[in-house]
Amino acid sequence: MPAPWPFAIRSQAAFPVLPFHTVHAYDIIKIPDDIGPWTRKVVKELEIHGRENMNGDCPPAERTITVERVATAKLPTQVGDFEIIGYRSLTSSEEFVVLAKGELGPDTPTLVRIHSQCLTGDVFGSIKCDCGPQLRRAMEMIEAEGRGAVVYQQQEGRGIGILNKIRAYALQDDGADTVEANEQLGFAVDARDYRQCAEILFDLGLCRVRVISNNPDKLRALENAGLTIVERIPIEIDAKEPAAHYMKTKKEKLGHLLTIDQ
Ligand SMILES: [Zn+2]
Repeated sequence: MPAPWPFAIRSQAAFPVLPFHTVHAYDIIKIPDDIGPWTRKVVKELEIHGRENMNGDCPPAERTITVERVATAKLPTQVGDFEIIGYRSLTSSEEFVVLAKGELGPDTPTLVRIHSQCLTGDVFGSIKCDCGPQLRRAMEMIEAEGRGAVVYQQQEGRGIGILNKIRAYALQDDGADTVEANEQLGFAVDARDYRQCAEILFDLGLCRVRVISNNPDKLRALENAGLTIVERIPIEIDAKEPAAHYMKTKKEKLGHLLTIDQ
């Protein structure tokens, strides 16, 4: 793994949240003399750690870092050896985990997956959805490539949380599909927000990504955040019922890019 980039905000007190453009070497050179002492400290740190990763277009200007890298460790798995990196949001109680492998840099189109937590699928092996096999497949792709990152976000149940997801499952037991269940509970069909995931990808040093996803909303969100999507890598699980019904609903009602029959 490269050194944290542009830098790790080690504490809110010492390093206030900065707009991305202030950590561009190109821009920092133009910072006027009246900058505060903490900005000088950041500039100094950048000179030490950040310059080798500089890329004129990445990260884009006028962005704000709202996540903090907390810890990094090795994580050997059944799929292969990864690094696990913990982030926390500076604007909410959300925490994120990254599984990363290989050298990550701005110029290499890199495999990434934004995976939304699915306790039932990822941990318990539920066959109501395709999440667990998708996560495993993404890890296998990155292992085979020798490079990439999975950003695991906590927005369970497309953002409604595990308890409400169980409520939605109860409605599905009575015949509703996944979209109808969310609507009956008064929730958005998809309440997820990917902006901080994009910030994490920038913090990992990535700018040009090959996104493992079937979800056009996710692709749009990453692009709007300033990442360059070089390629979309489909991730389609050969699912049986009931996951097959769930996937058809995602295709028909959420516009997911799936080749399964209508
Ligand atoms: Zn799931």
